Amino acid sequence: MAVKGEKKKKTVKTIKIDVDKCNGCRACEMICSAFHAAPKYSSNNPARSRIRVIREPLRDVYVPVYAGEYTQAECAGRDKYTIDGKEYDECAFCRASCPSRDEFKEPDSGLPIKCDMCEGEEEPLCVKWCLVDALSYEAREEEVEETVEQEVLETGLESLANKYGMQKIMDTVARMSQKD
Ligand code: SF4
Ligand code: SF4
Repeated sequence: MAVKGEKKKKTVKTIKIDVDKCNGCRACEMICSAFHAAPKYSSNNPARSRIRVIREPLRDVYVPVYAGEYTQAECAGRDKYTIDGKEYDECAFCRASCPSRDEFKEPDSGLPIKCDMCEGEEEPLCVKWCLVDALSYEAREEEVEETVEQEVLETGLESLANKYGMQKIMDTVARMSQKD
């Protein structure tokens, strides 16, 4: 259960993908993996990229897919895509880093990777390097109501009560509310 809080501004970042414009050059994979190499730009390995391009050159099908959240469990239900008459692998366009496949995992450590919108950069580098504008960046401000999870609140209070005793917490809250 969530309780409502103050309204706050939040920046929502989106990368729009125009698959019709993508020519499968993989510049986006290159720059992303170089940016995330340690140290930065010391190497490039598409397996480290947070964007992967599904390529079917003979059919002129190129679909950039961004790495999303890590998931601990495989899906019970899956999607099947058919593009230009070809049926793709059930997991082909999935964004998740998942235990059932190697996609979106750091090749050395096996740790999941996720697109971080090139944190610290003005604009995502894959967008900048995509010379045919198949990727475009949009950032917009949204007003959101900050919510505090009731459970988190209760857990926090419980640990305070364990530490100081419930009576002391109640006395402190009563004293604080008198100050208002
Ligand atoms: S850089 Fe652009 S055109 Fe090249 S593969 Fe990536 S999205 Fe496609
Ligand atoms: S936005 Fe940055 S981190 Fe995300 S895929 Fe593009 S280059 Fe990689």
